[in-house]
Amino acid sequence: MPISGLPPYDDTNIFARILRGEIPCKKVYEDDWALAFNDINPQAPTHVLVIPKGKYCSFADFSAAASEAEIAGFMRAVGKIAKDLGHEAPGYRLLANMGADSGQEVPHFHVHLFAGRPLGRMLPSS
Ligand code: 5GP
Repeated sequence: MPISGLPPYDDTNIFARILRGEIPCKKVYEDDWALAFNDINPQAPTHVLVIPKGKYCSFADFSAAASEAEIAGFMRAVGKIAKDLGHEAPGYRLLANMGADSGQEVPHFHVHLFAGRPLGRMLPSS
């Protein structure tokens, strides 16, 4: 159920369609809680998107409405993916956009996993 003040989940969003297998993705990992696949427009040598299997619009929605099992399963999946891809030692960055100011494009909660080179400043100076 969406949290108040946020729009309802849109079943036609691109990640919902990927989850249903209606459009392809380059899958990196899947378990009961998460699906991970390569970003179509990578911003680093590794740019993986990790999404929960449940219908959550954003981090706000997921953190407020997901069950503890979903949250634990999802977070463990993110850590496992980074480790299995060999990024723990050199390091990596996780990013989740939420809402208009962040530039969130796809309204299904997702974590970006960036790695494979020094990633520079966290935010551009402005
Ligand atoms: P956001 O701006 O919502 O945090 O990030 C959405 C991400 O989804 C972008 O990095 C964009 O490149 C990626 N993306 C958009 N459409 C597709 C798609 O059809 N397939 C894949 N693999 N990534 C997509």
